Amino acid sequence: MAANLLDFDLEGLAAFCDGLGEKRFRATQLFRWIHQKGAGDFAQMSDLAKSLRDKLAGAAQIKPLGVISEHTSADGTVKWLFDVGNGDAVETVFIPEDGRGTLCLSSQAGCAVGCRFCSTGHQGFSRNLTTGEILAQLWHAEHHLRPRLGLAAGERAVTNVVMMGMGEPLQNYAALVPALRVMLDDHGYGLSRRRVTVSTSGVVPMIDRLRDDCPVALAVSLHAPDDALRDSLVPLNRKYPLAQLLAACKRYLDTAPRDFITFEYCMLDGVNDSLAQADALVRLVRQSGVACKFNLIPFNPFPASGLSCTPRARVLAFAQRLQDAGLVTTVRKTRGDDIDAACGQLAGEVQDRTRIGERMRRIPIVVTQPAQGV
Ligand code: SAH
Ligand code: SF4
Repeated sequence: MAANLLDFDLEGLAAFCDGLGEKRFRATQLFRWIHQKGAGDFAQMSDLAKSLRDKLAGAAQIKPLGVISEHTSADGTVKWLFDVGNGDAVETVFIPEDGRGTLCLSSQAGCAVGCRFCSTGHQGFSRNLTTGEILAQLWHAEHHLRPRLGLAAGERAVTNVVMMGMGEPLQNYAALVPALRVMLDDHGYGLSRRRVTVSTSGVVPMIDRLRDDCPVALAVSLHAPDDALRDSLVPLNRKYPLAQLLAACKRYLDTAPRDFITFEYCMLDGVNDSLAQADALVRLVRQSGVACKFNLIPFNPFPASGLSCTPRARVLAFAQRLQDAGLVTTVRKTRGDDIDAACGQLAGEVQDRTRIGERMRRIPIVVTQPAQGV
């Protein structure tokens, strides 16, 4: 079977070219054609010898993902639904802001973590994406957006990548790391480590591996100030409780490109949003000694969750409480509302393969209200 060249980082491509009897600089040329110029066809690669192009055409392919749908929001947000075969689809979202373009990528079809408030979690897990499938989302977005946005030569549509689409990236580590390397490579997308963010629900051993293998900006989905509540919202917490998770965050900062961890906190009405819980959160992160910033995410409700979003005024009061305690806190703007592109809404019409959603709704959420002023 023809190798998919989107599966390779530059080292991998060099090894592949070596196998074809080609020198390393040919691999670099090929890599630049694919990732910088968006070539999908070897015939386009005009500075490669015809003999090499023919050899490649027999042994390799640049495999795009089929587009099921594309929607553009009134605010410029673009959402693609890509076909990854066997009835599975993943979503990718582009969010333009002043001077930057953030692309939110999926890492898995479905997700095995099964967070209570996440529509992907309610779908159950189907499979890991390959490196090629992770990168095909970026490749497609970058090279389709450039002409559409009327960018000058050398300008990039995607300036930031966040692994915040469907799936838990640190449960697909082997495919994730080469994809990150291509994003960072000067011959690839040339993004700085600070502009590539991996978001995780807290896979502690893999946070440590990422720290050594490919440190990029890290976002950790916290969602609760204590283990009892976090156990019921993010089931992975039973395996890696808060003390272990925060210790891993602290270790991560040794090599991280940013000097803080971003803690994401999805605001759920009556569940994790009281001021007493904000105070407990302050104590938790202070004790841990992890330099951090908070990003409060208004919950995107979906019927099967049985949960609702904290009213705006209380989101702001919670944010203020963290700010007053000296924690830098932002409230995520919701974008692309008219096309259902907001975070956590990525599954679109939820396909519940494993009936995990049904099982989840039967498990009660444990809300422990911490004592005030302790
Ligand atoms: N699995 C990783 C990355 C993908 S989820 C993680 O959990 O971090 C990306 C972010 O979207 C996470 O912070 C997640 O908690 C949040 N999220 C999931 N469902 C959501 C929803 N319905 N509303 C708002 N945010 C949600
Ligand atoms: Fe998976 Fe992240 Fe959704 Fe949790 S929030 S189910 S880890 S995608």
